[in-house]
Amino acid sequence: MSSKDAAKRPKPKQATEPRQPRQSRKTAVITGVTGQDGSYLAELLLGKGYEVIGVVRRTSHDSYERIGHLLDRVQIVAADLLDQHSLTTVIRDAKPDEVYNLAAQSFVPTSWNQPVLTGEFTALGVTRLLEAIRLAHPQARFYQASSSEMFGKAVETPQRETTPFYPRSPYGVAKVYGHWITVNYRESYGMYAVSGILFNHESPRRGLEFVTRKVSDAVARIKLGKATELRLGKLDSGRDWGFAGDYVDAMWRMLQQPEPKDYVVGTGKMHTVRDLCAAAFRHVGLDWQKYVAVDPRFVRPAEVDTLLADASRARKELGWTPRVSFEQLVEMMVDADLERLA
Ligand code: GDP
Repeated sequence: MSSKDAAKRPKPKQATEPRQPRQSRKTAVITGVTGQDGSYLAELLLGKGYEVIGVVRRTSHDSYERIGHLLDRVQIVAADLLDQHSLTTVIRDAKPDEVYNLAAQSFVPTSWNQPVLTGEFTALGVTRLLEAIRLAHPQARFYQASSSEMFGKAVETPQRETTPFYPRSPYGVAKVYGHWITVNYRESYGMYAVSGILFNHESPRRGLEFVTRKVSDAVARIKLGKATELRLGKLDSGRDWGFAGDYVDAMWRMLQQPEPKDYVVGTGKMHTVRDLCAAAFRHVGLDWQKYVAVDPRFVRPAEVDTLLADASRARKELGWTPRVSFEQLVEMMVDADLERLA
C-alpha cells in the first residue's frame, strides 16, 4: 500500500477509556445472555478481561433484568437460534475466540406443550449455530450447554460422561440431539466443540417456574405474610443441585483445555424436593409441612425421579470444585427473595 493510500484510511476512533490491545483481549459470544447462566458467565468473562458479545432475541418486552448492571460493558447484538442468517452474521462480524450456547427453551413442562418449538430452539438451534461457526469462523471454540435431563430415567447412578442417555421429556430429547450434533461437528470437522453436561444449577437469578426458586419465593412471601401456602408436584424427586455461579466457571475451563472433551458437572450430592422445602422453611423458622400442598397440576406426564452427578473427570482434569453447598444455596436464595419482596 502506498503512503498516499495510507493517508486516505480513516483515523481510528479515540477510545474514551484505555482498552487492552485486540491481540491480548479475547472475545466471547454468549447466546442466552439474558438468562441465569448467561448473566453469571458474562460477569466471569468480563472479570477475566474478555470482550463480551451477548446475543439476544428480539421480544416485545424488556428482558434485561439479570444483566442490567452489565449493559455498559456487554455488547448486545440481535440474533435468533431459529434464524441461520442472523447467527452467521454475528459470528462473521465478531470472529470470536469462544462461543457459549446457553440459549434454549429450557423449562421441562413447557416442552410437552410446545414440543416442536422446543426442538427448533434446543435441538436444531445448536446445528444452526455450529453451521454459522463452521462457515464464518471455524477456529472459534464452542461450548454447548448439555443437561443432566439427558440421563432422564437413569440407567446407572451416579451418572458420568459414559452413562447412556434415556431422556424423559421433549426437552431432554432435544438436548440429546444438541449434545450429539456437538460431538459430531468435533469429529466431522475437527472443530473445538465441547458439551458440558451440567446438573441442575440454581441461584437468586433462577426463573420463578423452577422448583428451587418457586420454593424460595414462596417461603419469603409466606414469611412476610403475603402468601399462605405453596403448591408443588412430586416431592420425592431427587436432584443434584449446585450454585450457577460455580458452574459457569466449569464452562470456561472446558474451553481452555488442550483437547476438546465433554464433562459432567455437579456436586455429587442429592436432595429431594421435600429436603429443599424443609431447608428453605427452616431458614426462616417455619415448619414446611404446615404450608406445602401437593397439586396434581404440577405432576409431569413422565418424570425424572433422581439425578446424581459423578463429576470426577471435571474435578481431575479441569481442577473444578463447587464452592457453595446445598444449604448455603437455599439460604442465599431465600435471603435474596426476602430482600426483594420486603
Ligand atoms: P428440571 O430438573 O429441569 O425439571 O428442574 P425443575 O426445577 O423444574 O424440577 C425439578 C424437580 O422438581 C422435578 O422432578 C419436578 O417434577 C419437581 N417438582 C415438584 N414440584 C414442582 C413444581 O411445582 N415446579 C417445578 N418446576 N418442579 C417441581
